[in-house]
Amino acid sequence: MTPTYESLGEIDPRVAALIESEEARQLRSIRLIPSENHASPAVRAALGSAFTNKYGEGYPGRRYYQGQEFDDALESEVIARAKALFGYPYANVQALSGAPANLAVYSAFMKPYGGRIMAMRLDHGGHLTHGSPVSVTGQWWEIHPYGCNEHDVLDMDAIRRQALEIRPDVLVCGYTAYPRTIDFEAFGAIAKEVGALSLADISHIAGLVAGGAHPSPWPHMDVVTFTTHKTLRGPRAAVILSREQAHAEAIDKAVFPGLQGGPHFATIAAIGVCLAEAATPAFRLYAHRVVDNARALAAALVERGFHVLSGGTDNHLLLVDVRKSRKLPGKRAAVALERVGIELNFNTVPNASELQKPLFPDGIRMGTPSVTTRGMTVADMPRIAEFIDRGLALVKSGRLAEGESMWTDPDARDTLRTEVEAFASGFAAFQYEAG
Ligand SMILES: *Cc1c(COP(=O)(O)O)cnc(C)c1O
Repeated sequence: MTPTYESLGEIDPRVAALIESEEARQLRSIRLIPSENHASPAVRAALGSAFTNKYGEGYPGRRYYQGQEFDDALESEVIARAKALFGYPYANVQALSGAPANLAVYSAFMKPYGGRIMAMRLDHGGHLTHGSPVSVTGQWWEIHPYGCNEHDVLDMDAIRRQALEIRPDVLVCGYTAYPRTIDFEAFGAIAKEVGALSLADISHIAGLVAGGAHPSPWPHMDVVTFTTHKTLRGPRAAVILSREQAHAEAIDKAVFPGLQGGPHFATIAAIGVCLAEAATPAFRLYAHRVVDNARALAAALVERGFHVLSGGTDNHLLLVDVRKSRKLPGKRAAVALERVGIELNFNTVPNASELQKPLFPDGIRMGTPSVTTRGMTVADMPRIAEFIDRGLALVKSGRLAEGESMWTDPDARDTLRTEVEAFASGFAAFQYEAG
């Protein structure tokens, strides 16, 4: 069942070599991209299984193909696990990823050009599929964005006033770059008050919710979407949960035949494995350690004089305004840190300078799901903060001339990279938590 790279190497040496290079790259880097993780060997085995050979349009017991003996049982089992883990009575496990899952929910409840979505603005931490003008979600529906206040946090009273005025059809919470706890109870109450469907997109924090390290959207939110490959540590896919049967039926129809054809059963098998893993005491420990590590990393960065948005974090990620901290543009900081073996991404931040644009942002975003999976603890976080600090200290802050190097000292950069790689290589490729 385990992927056999030996035979792959004989049949397709080029792709095999790229896979090997990517594996090696991941293990020698400090991976801080908060939407990434390392899936377990069991999840990866399920992904490479014979279920990839099977077609089965429809839902368990209602298929358009023969030979459904085991994939019906599989999908039913995975649905049951999703419901049990998150406490919702209905689940759809066929959405191919987070973006199609959100599109399925919107299209289940609104006709194109006939509905209003109220969601967080992209540059304050919302997702493209929450109504960005470059996403069809922002082209087919009327979008009313909300944002953070001057303290970089959500103001639920302001959101309620806005919702009362706008009367959206769908009120969305759940973000890609928001470091604080989401008040699902307040969002659910506002949606109810204004007659909107409440949607919690917990893609980033699904693993924290499953592990009890972030409050659950149950029973406050009508519909919940999440990707399974971020903190939940599963395959690249998504799950849609709902509270009411009528919603669940509309969502199932929107996924298939509305938007998709045959389910990806190998992926569904891998979702099942990650849900079983996420239901264990070891995973609860993992989820809490992710948050402990993020808090420790934020504290270590604050100690080094970095401007951490909202002052810290309650979840797995944090944002740093590197222009305020080190007079650096976010993109240059992210590119520089990649050169020394630290992977994170540049990101817009609320309350930034006038210079900030989506492609020219003031911030960097980082998170601890991957490093925690590799066994790093709070004791390792000051070291990572030190690496980041030293890396950025080697980067020129002013405007660079065409073709000018961003580095003040390329030798010091290379020394740092060697140190970072030695540090990262010292941790396990994947570690199940043991109390
Ligand atoms: C990652 C993410 C998505 C999109 O998931 P994809 O699998 O990349 O399509 C949607 N919403 C939120 C909040 C996310 O973080």
